[in-house]
Amino acid sequence: MRNPNSLTFSGFMDGVRRRNRGQKEFQQAVGEWAHDVIPWVNDHPRYQGHNLSGRLTEPDRVIMFRVTWADDRGRVRVNKGYRVQHSNAIGPYKGGLRFHPSVTLSILKFLAFEQVFKNSLTGLPMGGAKGGSDFDPKGKSNSEIMRFCQAFMNELYRHIGPFTDVPAGDIGVGGREISYLFGQYKQITNQFTGVLTGKGLSFGGSEIRTEATGYGTVYFMEDMLRHNKQGIEGKTCLVSGSGNVAIYATEKLIQHGAKPVTLSDSGGFIHDPNGIDKDKLAWVKDLKEVRYGRISEYADEFGVKYYPTERPWSVPCDLAFPCATQNEVNEAEAKVLIRNGCKGVSEGSNMGSDAGAIAVYRASKILYGPAKAANAGGVAVSGLEMSQNSMRMSWSRKELNTHLGDIMKGIHERCVEYGSDRGGYVDYLKGANIAGFKKVADALIAYGAN
Ligand code: NDP
Repeated sequence: MRNPNSLTFSGFMDGVRRRNRGQKEFQQAVGEWAHDVIPWVNDHPRYQGHNLSGRLTEPDRVIMFRVTWADDRGRVRVNKGYRVQHSNAIGPYKGGLRFHPSVTLSILKFLAFEQVFKNSLTGLPMGGAKGGSDFDPKGKSNSEIMRFCQAFMNELYRHIGPFTDVPAGDIGVGGREISYLFGQYKQITNQFTGVLTGKGLSFGGSEIRTEATGYGTVYFMEDMLRHNKQGIEGKTCLVSGSGNVAIYATEKLIQHGAKPVTLSDSGGFIHDPNGIDKDKLAWVKDLKEVRYGRISEYADEFGVKYYPTERPWSVPCDLAFPCATQNEVNEAEAKVLIRNGCKGVSEGSNMGSDAGAIAVYRASKILYGPAKAANAGGVAVSGLEMSQNSMRMSWSRKELNTHLGDIMKGIHERCVEYGSDRGGYVDYLKGANIAGFKKVADALIAYGAN
């Protein structure tokens, strides 16, 4: 007889689609999660009868607001502002802010949803949230960015706090923007608290926060390789993006003897067959972090080929690191990667691979580190920044790098525990989904109907 508490994947997803019409990224993220979590719940009676999947797919709160600011010509401009507070079951809401013209409620809902399970996987007490705006920082002056950040905080400050919700950076929000946001929060509230992470070192920021997501993505790949008795040295690697995550993934690859050969931005990608070395990367850091230039300039500077409008996945490689944006590897591109010899993918970007690409990775049994696990290093070091702010102390760069490596190892172990089949194949996405879910679910069960 059918267990009255058991769910079917298709029945559950019909309900999700009905309640979240038109929100295709959110539906996609929930679908990838439910694919693993629903069968697991059906096999584990303790997790039945609490409507955990229903409770965990509805955000606690969605805040939407108008952001009004003046540009350099004195014109009044309006953007949309959002904060999606998805779950604070295991700690204060925590997750980045994204400033990009493609931002929609669906994208922020998918990111907040994923953040809940990623944060749970780190082992630190953090809930999940995400926010941002459709504001486009490209082509804006420093003063315009500052005025926008201040206007954004004029509303956001009501909804955040060190024990309530602690935002951080994401696409379009780096150290400069976090500093403007923090300055405005301090001004409005007259409080100096750890309300944002990714701050400057002179005002409560943490060593290696800037590097942590990119470094962690490489550490996770190394953990997967080590589990298969291999190493990263000498491997040809594709990296997409040229922002925060891409730059520091590339830096760690170089430090550990791998050979990164591509970088990209929304205009196209460069292929440097000789490898991007330390000096070339220093030039890229200046280009992207100081001059806010385009990756096409690398081709002119170093005499390599630039491929406008294309993504790097057709270049033969051993390993791939999507580090730009969601759905940047599709099914056809995943097939090309594998045909060209790729043996592993570690996602710096959130939902970097679409459902078709994931099916290809799973069918060919390559190493696939999903974002939830592979890019959790950034939020983990943010969690450590929160601890340092609370204790009014700071750990050294060396100590934090050791913590980061240990946290990534812990995530890897949890994925192996919940994602291994009898033949020894590790489905890291399944492992991450179930391990991330279990901790949050235990808290919800303890809270009762809440
Ligand atoms: P940045 O803004 O620093 O860099 C983003 C990079 O991706 C840029 O090179 C940008 O190019 C490119 N990009 C953005 N949108 C697109 C697009 N639609 N198509 C092609 N390229 C695009 O952001 P981050 O490096 O911080 O974030 C990159 C990814 O990593 C995101 O998915 C983010 O959610 C994820 N992530 C970031 C964390 C962090 O700590 N920063 C933590 C965990 C995940 P262009 O300049 O042309 O827009």
